[in-house]
Amino acid sequence: MKRIRFAIDRRFTWKRMIVPGVTAVTFWALAVVLYGVSGGQIFALVNFGYLGTALGIGLGLYALLPRRQKPLGRRVSLLLIGLYLFFFIGVISQENIQVEGVWWSLINGTFYAAVWHYFVAKIVGPLLFGRLWCGWACWSVMVFDLLPYKQPSGRLPGKWGWLRYGHIVLSAVVVVVLWRVFGVQVGTNSATAVVWFLIGNIFYYVVGIGLAVGLKDNRAFCKYLCPVAVPLKLTSRFSLLKIGTDDSQCNDCHACVKMCPMDIQIPDYVHAGQRVLSTECTLCQTCVTVCAHDALKLSYGFDMGGRELLRLRTNGETAVYQPNISGGTQHAQ
Ligand code: SF4
Ligand code: SF4
Repeated sequence: MKRIRFAIDRRFTWKRMIVPGVTAVTFWALAVVLYGVSGGQIFALVNFGYLGTALGIGLGLYALLPRRQKPLGRRVSLLLIGLYLFFFIGVISQENIQVEGVWWSLINGTFYAAVWHYFVAKIVGPLLFGRLWCGWACWSVMVFDLLPYKQPSGRLPGKWGWLRYGHIVLSAVVVVVLWRVFGVQVGTNSATAVVWFLIGNIFYYVVGIGLAVGLKDNRAFCKYLCPVAVPLKLTSRFSLLKIGTDDSQCNDCHACVKMCPMDIQIPDYVHAGQRVLSTECTLCQTCVTVCAHDALKLSYGFDMGGRELLRLRTNGETAVYQPNISGGTQHAQ
């Protein structure tokens, strides 16, 4: 049997613990504030403290482990957070924290866990941590990343990315129609919430795995259909945390592009002297791991994202896709 040996990255410096440390401390600070605001509700303290600790452990392992073992940090974080949210919050605490639960809470004026979850993880959190949620905490990605299609062939050309906007609108329409026409309540803190939560998740897993197999791309669901990406893309463009680049180190090997699960043309940002400004970036750090020249690393800073440079799926060639959002054009490379 093959023995797994754990060692510390020879290039490790304590500076690399800044991102894990800041992330964990921010969540604990939030936990303490919410504990106070909620009049001493222990759940607020434990919940956000746990999430910050799990993220800190995952990001810390990533910083600490040698290059080949770094992905383990993300796996640990996805498992610790994904399983906790799915089983403890979703099933045991009977909270539907999927997007349908948010719509239900909003139309009822009941700000239950779903609203708090979206507010923290998908609207305000991304101002600081970008789409860290997608890469390190999502319980759908926790499963999709176990599939074998880790090296994508690029995005489908066309407007498939707009499906997720349709999905989020449709989810609101379904909740309202079920409630007003059929008297079905999505509910929260109830058995109905659990049933709804499980049905929603089964749908995500079945469709997500089907798309992954059909398109040979683990993250096909995230790219074309996930409604959660809609709010995340809005606020993550302002994110302080992004992938920083160093043009002087890059030799244009394109190893990062080949392995980026979100098809981002990373060297184009590198050569423009910009951080990775794509709102598709999930901060998974796969590009950082595979870059043998240390041209990439997580960094804090302030810049406006939204410049989408994506690799299109073409007949063996690559192409840059720049949607109108940045006023760019589409051209082949
Ligand atoms: S650019 Fe890097 S961190 Fe962002 S999604 Fe691609 S591989 Fe992950
Ligand atoms: S892997 Fe590193 S060196 Fe290669 S193209 Fe990407 S940023 Fe440049």
